[in-house]
Amino acid sequence: MSLRRFVASFPSCLIARLVCCALAGIYAGFALPTSAAPAPQVTVEELTIGASTQGRPVMALRIGDGPIKLVIVGNTHGAPEANTYVLATMLADHFRANPQDVPPAVRLYIVPTINPDGLALGTRFNARGVDLNRNMNTSFDTCPENDWRVTVFGAYGIVSDTGGPYADSEVESRLLRAFLLDAWGAIFLHSAAGNVFPAFCDHAPSIALAQTYAGGAGYRYTRFWEQYVITGGMHDWASSLGIPAIVPELVTGTEPEFEQNLGGVRAVLDAAEALLPVPETRIEGGVPVPALLWRYWQMHGGMERFGAPLAPATVEGGVTRQAFERAMLELHPDQADTPYLVQLAPLGRLHDRPGVTVPHGDCTSPECRTFAETGHTLRGAFAAYWDRGGGLNVFGFPLSEEVMARAADGSIRLQQVFERAIFILDDDGSVRLESLGWAALVRERSLAPSVGYQVR
Ligand SMILES: [Zn+2]
Repeated sequence: MSLRRFVASFPSCLIARLVCCALAGIYAGFALPTSAAPAPQVTVEELTIGASTQGRPVMALRIGDGPIKLVIVGNTHGAPEANTYVLATMLADHFRANPQDVPPAVRLYIVPTINPDGLALGTRFNARGVDLNRNMNTSFDTCPENDWRVTVFGAYGIVSDTGGPYADSEVESRLLRAFLLDAWGAIFLHSAAGNVFPAFCDHAPSIALAQTYAGGAGYRYTRFWEQYVITGGMHDWASSLGIPAIVPELVTGTEPEFEQNLGGVRAVLDAAEALLPVPETRIEGGVPVPALLWRYWQMHGGMERFGAPLAPATVEGGVTRQAFERAMLELHPDQADTPYLVQLAPLGRLHDRPGVTVPHGDCTSPECRTFAETGHTLRGAFAAYWDRGGGLNVFGFPLSEEVMARAADGSIRLQQVFERAIFILDDDGSVRLESLGWAALVRERSLAPSVGYQVR
């Protein structure tokens, strides 16, 4: 029985009613629920997802527990677009105070700035002078026009070599790449053109997302950024992985335009289940590849780096594994929101490569690095391949020096063993990964003879 009904049940007792009404008033004043079930707990959590070039933390606020990971990224363009940082911070404050505004199916993340160095240094670029919205690997979508390149159109139609030395070269780009691996939708806040546009290549979910956001915010929807073609853009990169992605451009370069954008975000949240489809399993060479393994494979070099999938994925102990020719990819759900959600199995650790260590001079030049963790060095073509391919997160530490040893194909080649890969130098000077995925699959199948000869 509620307090008010309890009071009403004593109509003849005026004093009791007054006392009870006063109590009920106090009760109501504390805004405690009278009979409803307690509201479900919604996770509100601040995460550090990494550090910028100059070591500033890149933060994210998470609100919610649903499967639909929606990420709002502010301030890619640093100081000139600081109002998007203010906006993202205000959105974070709003949803921190009102976590029930995030539907149960959604997990909302707000990154107030992916470019804290640019914000602090007063520039559009990151601390290395790279435009982070021109640095992503957009070369595997179906539109050649927006492929990554070093010479780019920047703000105000200025052409400059600010695309970076190569695609995904910047630590901020790699942070984003890792953090969006399991995203179901992405919103990249910019200013100040006053429109909302989706990915350049036709991607129906991105178009619907842009239209919905524009409608909720009262901004203009446009199919393209009209001034020039954006190369290496985050929205194009995301959509090429199947992640619906849009760019809302605030109208002004000074105001956060909070109410409008809260309207846009709410419109997206209200329709999230219809707008943001489940990440899709893909077929490569006739073999199904689970969505997140496929995204990792694709964004880290695909067929050229890892080769084709050799067999369908298996699940054991919560870890989904799939053998590709040159790597075993593993999905570790307990590593969500870290760069290790998908990782190369540490197969390098299983391989001794007895061979002749190649003599080198002391590791004193800038081209040579020593890793104190394992005591090994990295230099030359292998260092370049390690850096470009994702470095420590992807390949792990070196476990050997450069050796001349026999490779799986029988040839004697220069090699180096890492925790998660073995690098091989080919005759033409190019580097490739040893076929460790193949070897692991053969070993596993030979230990389980009932499976028979299904290795393909
Ligand atoms: Zn911008």
